[in-house]
Amino acid sequence: MIEVLSVASEVYPLIKTGGLADVAGALPGALAEFGVTMRTLVPGYPAVIGKMSGGREVARFNDLFGVDARLLAGRAEGLDLIVLDAPALYDRPGNPYMGPEGWDWPDNWKRYAALSWVASELGLGLVEGYRPQVIHAHDWQAGLVPAYVKFGPSATLKTVMTVHNMAFQGTFGAQVFPQLRLPPHAFSMDGVEYYGGVGYLKAGVECADVVTTVSPTYAAEIRTPAFGMGLEGLLNSRSATVHGVLNGIDMDAWNPATDPALAQTYTASSMQGRLVNKRAVQEAFGLDALDGPLFAVVSRLTWQKGIDLLAANIDMLVASGAQLAVLGSGDAELENAVRSAAMQYPGKVGLVTGYNEKLSHLIQGGADVMMVPSRFEPCGLTQLYALRYGCVPLVCRVGGLNDTVIDANVAAIQAEVATGVQFAPPSEAALADAIRRVLALYADEKSWKKMQRRGMKSDVSWQASAARYAELYASLIGYTTDDSQDD
Ligand code: ADP
Repeated sequence: MIEVLSVASEVYPLIKTGGLADVAGALPGALAEFGVTMRTLVPGYPAVIGKMSGGREVARFNDLFGVDARLLAGRAEGLDLIVLDAPALYDRPGNPYMGPEGWDWPDNWKRYAALSWVASELGLGLVEGYRPQVIHAHDWQAGLVPAYVKFGPSATLKTVMTVHNMAFQGTFGAQVFPQLRLPPHAFSMDGVEYYGGVGYLKAGVECADVVTTVSPTYAAEIRTPAFGMGLEGLLNSRSATVHGVLNGIDMDAWNPATDPALAQTYTASSMQGRLVNKRAVQEAFGLDALDGPLFAVVSRLTWQKGIDLLAANIDMLVASGAQLAVLGSGDAELENAVRSAAMQYPGKVGLVTGYNEKLSHLIQGGADVMMVPSRFEPCGLTQLYALRYGCVPLVCRVGGLNDTVIDANVAAIQAEVATGVQFAPPSEAALADAIRRVLALYADEKSWKKMQRRGMKSDVSWQASAARYAELYASLIGYTTDDSQDD
């Protein structure tokens, strides 16, 4: 077996603000059959500590970046966890990264340096009987792990850095550097220094043995200025070690045949249940019980997600007889744009704000079209859930959206491979065209059903990607995948 320590700030179902949690939660289970044992190190947020009642204390720190802390090991929600219980750093209500006023916690540099430092100590054998061969760091919160390893004493410990979103880089002023417990020469181009400050994600991308991101298209995009967000030069120089590995989804948690969140379950061969769910979605959003196409959005309401492009097309959507259900929250301006459309078009446009996992399942099971008009999308999970649920995805042709949805162009329709509709570039006009294409496709009931079924049967599982991660770990420690199976 290959022993891997995964380090993530979020892990579903314990704590989630986005796709990272889904990935960190699903990977350990998916990797098991490929000869990989994965434990996950997470911060002891209240929601995590609450689930660790049976946890065993395996280490204690009197001065972890100035605070008292301990490590708890145990199982929760099917995951093998090591939790960094440091109340002074993590015992805070609400969103893990921001205070109640919506500002980042000012000590975020310390909260995630501590997490990363502890991970590297675990890699050095901090806990008796546990010695991971590879540490897999996710996103900027774990970005310092590869730096602690590179500038630390171990010559054998290997690191993988996965970038889930280049837009969140964890950059801080140079004044934090002396407190990071790194040697002075780590404040350099081949260390953590980034445009005169400290870059956590930069450090991870620079220092990791392997860098991955969550789709092949995004792996290529981030080597350009438009998507690399300052890291494109570094990524180009490390291109041989950068891999795009698509995310999968948890096929049990997201299964329309058994999903308890649905008003009625269904399968690809018998989809009548979708209509019952559609009525339930309409009710939840205060929409009329109409039979026309029901478009939906389940997303953070931000510029990245192209919600402004959507808002600009609501008049057209409604005029064409469609309805729109939006679940999400985010930028006040975008939230207000959707809210005023809902007021302008009662019964046709509905908005539910806040995070609602159960409702998100129901929407996938009842809406006809799932819109993901993102300007950039490293992988995107919403369209994968949509495919699985027969909710046809309408997506911008970027990142993982490009890799997972097959556009219903003439050739794809003829070849019977289309699973959704793509548009490009991310503009109001291109989205308007795509909406018109969707409406025309929806009008042809028989071929629409075929497209839904094809989506439901497309492989959105972790299978292929888990195999790829296992291969990457194995190559790092000099195993062949066969060795790891036998071991
Ligand atoms: P990102 O991580 O950039 O936000 P992804 O598509 O990778 O985008 O993952 C977003 C995840 O969060 C999906 O599982 C999506 O269904 C879910 N999600 C987003 N907003 C909400 C919401 N308001 N309520 C429930 N689930 C949501």
